[in-house]
Amino acid sequence: MNLILLGAPGAGKGTQAEVICEHLHIPAVSTGNMIREALKNGTEMGLRAKSFMEEGKLVPDEVVIGIIKERLQQDDCKNGFILDGFPRTIPQAEALDNMGIVIDKVIDIEVPDEKIVERMSGRRVCEACGASYHLLYKKPEKEGVCKCGGTLVQRKDDHPDTVKERLKVYHEQTEPLKAYYEKQGKLSIVTGQEDVADTSRLTLEALKA
Ligand SMILES: [Zn+2]
Repeated sequence: MNLILLGAPGAGKGTQAEVICEHLHIPAVSTGNMIREALKNGTEMGLRAKSFMEEGKLVPDEVVIGIIKERLQQDDCKNGFILDGFPRTIPQAEALDNMGIVIDKVIDIEVPDEKIVERMSGRRVCEACGASYHLLYKKPEKEGVCKCGGTLVQRKDDHPDTVKERLKVYHEQTEPLKAYYEKQGKLSIVTGQEDVADTSRLTLEALKA
């Protein structure tokens, strides 16, 4: 089964990708990892990506899509794959379609913006060991201090203003994909739950639908 996972940053796509991976024994392919791999392996598209990155430019869509195509042709994707973090825009989705990559299902993990801001802005990470905490869901024993004694800090990415900005970009550029795949009859919406296990159960149900 060829799948796309959609959802706002912070909606928990990564976790659901792992759940599906384990259940269907297909790889989750995230664009970030793919680009790093292509660079490391020096593939044709990897070298093209490198030339843009060396100039400090964004890697253009056609190169990212080329990298995805290379990745999806590998053996482990024969029985399917989960695309996580791609496509992010309508032109990228159209490019996938034009490449002849058939998507069977698109699962959209829906979490209200307020909830995402609350989740993300409560995150704290340890400067020393990288352990993560949450002010509401996974409190440190001692305020502001990690088990290891390190100081807990808020990453810039988790700051409410940064989260709100990323959500704005998501709503403008990525959310229109829901209508795009709805029209193709491929969209399933999963409502994110308080308990991750409940969300995972709904995701697996959506796969069967
Ligand atoms: Zn620590």
